[in-house]
Amino acid sequence: ATPTALMVGTGRGAQLGILIKGSEVLESTRRVDTVVLDKTGTVTTGKMTLLDVITADGEDTAQVLRLAGALEDSSEHPIAQAIAKGAREKVGALPPVEQFINIEGLGVQGIVDDHAMIVGRARLLADRAQQLPDELESAMRAAESEGKTAVAVGWDGRARGVLVVADAVKPTSAEAIEQLRGLGLTPIMLTGDNAAAARAIADQVGIHEVIAEVLPADKVDVVKRLQEQGKVVAMVGDGVNDAAALAQADLGLAMGTGTDVAIEASDLTLVRGDLRAAADAIRLSRRTLGTIK
Ligand code: ADP
Ligand code: MG
Repeated sequence: ATPTALMVGTGRGAQLGILIKGSEVLESTRRVDTVVLDKTGTVTTGKMTLLDVITADGEDTAQVLRLAGALEDSSEHPIAQAIAKGAREKVGALPPVEQFINIEGLGVQGIVDDHAMIVGRARLLADRAQQLPDELESAMRAAESEGKTAVAVGWDGRARGVLVVADAVKPTSAEAIEQLRGLGLTPIMLTGDNAAAARAIADQVGIHEVIAEVLPADKVDVVKRLQEQGKVVAMVGDGVNDAAALAQADLGLAMGTGTDVAIEASDLTLVRGDLRAAADAIRLSRRTLGTIK
């Protein structure tokens, strides 16, 4: 690529809200055939609200909310922030937390009011011998089948309740997916979230392929596997979780609204956090390269 054409490309990129890191970037973009999209914060706004609290027999809703809300107040995860905010609105001030631990991609644990708490995926509670009773299992499944995220709450060796949060799809995501397809690219959604919730979100934006329940450390392996199959992969993400996969991808695109770690690991930054800019970026670089061929 000639320096002049690149300057035109990067200048136009800035107008479109796309920051381009290096000159090799545009070159690799041309061959991309697959776009892997993180779900939370990329396809969706990542801003969740607490919708529902379901308790096991004999448990008190306010207590489930108060203890879970207190624990989640120490976490920066969007699910956690929705729970802490919802809890504070419904039960008031939240008690302090000791020995808080974040269990990547699974949930959180800590001590609240002398109770050993866990909030997270059902699997996390099951691993700690806190099997969910049937009524909580089915409440989780029902919420997930609607594309909502349900997390389980347990303390002192027992599962006590389920909290349902939901994240809204960005209003521009469906159009962005259509544009990516129009460029001949295959979109694939990648998420740590459960398969049913992921499927429901994918359906809303027109993504057919979904890879769900992927632990943060395994996202990079999904990208590698696609590359081994001969695919040239663009990855779009926003989270600390996504950084390794963004770096591994042939083209890494970070949401400007996301974390600094994701932005540093990427080749391009979509300044406004609008997924349509991913299609703009690929279109622009193909055109820029077309000019110089
Ligand atoms: P994504 O890939 O969609 O951004 P993560 O890898 O961050 O999702 O999380 C995967 C799953 O782990 C979440 O859907 C949730 O069930 C659980 N989880 C992670 N962090 C928390 C938390 N702080 N509180 C409750 N659940 C959590
Ligand atoms: Mg994310």
